[in-house]
Amino acid sequence: SEPTIGILGLGAMGSAIATRLRESGYATTVWNRTAAKTEPHVKAGSTAAATVAEAAAQSDILLVVLLDHASVREHLEPVAADLKGKVVVNLTTTTPNEARSTAAWAAEQGLTYLDGAMMAVPEMIGTPASRLLYSGDRDAYDIALPALETLGAADYEGQDAGLASLKDMALLTSMYQMFDGFMQAVAMMRTVGVSAAETAAEVSGWLGAVLPHTEQFAAVIDSGDYSGGQSVDFTRAAVGSLITAAREQGVGADFLEPLMRHLDELSATGRGGADWISVNEQLAIK
Ligand code: NDP
Repeated sequence: SEPTIGILGLGAMGSAIATRLRESGYATTVWNRTAAKTEPHVKAGSTAAATVAEAAAQSDILLVVLLDHASVREHLEPVAADLKGKVVVNLTTTTPNEARSTAAWAAEQGLTYLDGAMMAVPEMIGTPASRLLYSGDRDAYDIALPALETLGAADYEGQDAGLASLKDMALLTSMYQMFDGFMQAVAMMRTVGVSAAETAAEVSGWLGAVLPHTEQFAAVIDSGDYSGGQSVDFTRAAVGSLITAAREQGVGADFLEPLMRHLDELSATGRGGADWISVNEQLAIK
């Protein structure tokens, strides 16, 4: 028979997940710190649990969708005994080391633990645009997979429980730095009265055209051969102009300055002729 799924946390994400699982035919038990949030779910067919222990007792698979690492530990630690024999899947956003720490705690308690990271916003849950990453106990993944696949595409990243979160954070890092660039472009164009909407259209077209270059960059990085390509010194001049242009318009160049510092360091240490993509290696803290 189908497993019963418990959901801890009915915020925007937990609610979307509970709804999706219910609509996919799973029996669901829901718990939320603020109990009133269980009401619409109970009306729609879920069972409300008054405590985390009760939710655990009623579930084969327990999905944890709380705010952060601290709230997860606060609510799981007291009920470790009730989690024996269950599959615990923590979808709460945590850092890789927080995920590893919870996995180590779960192992000490003899629990089956899978860590997850959601590459989706609540509205995307259950749609083809939704993707969730998982790492940790492989058996837990295999057991939970049919239910997890109702939420979005599922990818198993490996035994190390920190891997799903690491990839999540790497992807979000690249996203924020791209959005940083958009913010700065808007600020520059607004100085001459161009609307953010117009700049958004320009930026999305431009970024779409240049984004595939990451694959050529990757080939260089993976080969470790930085002898070709656009040089550090050429790129220093280009980025220097961007910084000057921003300042001329009365706009801060804060997001570009760290890149410039790395390029300056490469140049100052005799690597001005190397491919500027070697800046990637400057990021590893030695
Ligand atoms: P919400 O702010 O909508 O909900 C937070 C949930 O956490 C609520 O159920 C809240 O309970 C509960 N909570 C907060 N602190 C505690 C605590 N100390 N003890 C018990 N429960 C607590 O957040 P989301 O649902 O959007 O996010 C949930 C997780 O999903 C987060 O880790 C988030 O980073 C991640 N995520 C969210 C995405 C999004 O687009 N929203 C995208 C990808 C990941 P109460 O109702 O009582 O306040």
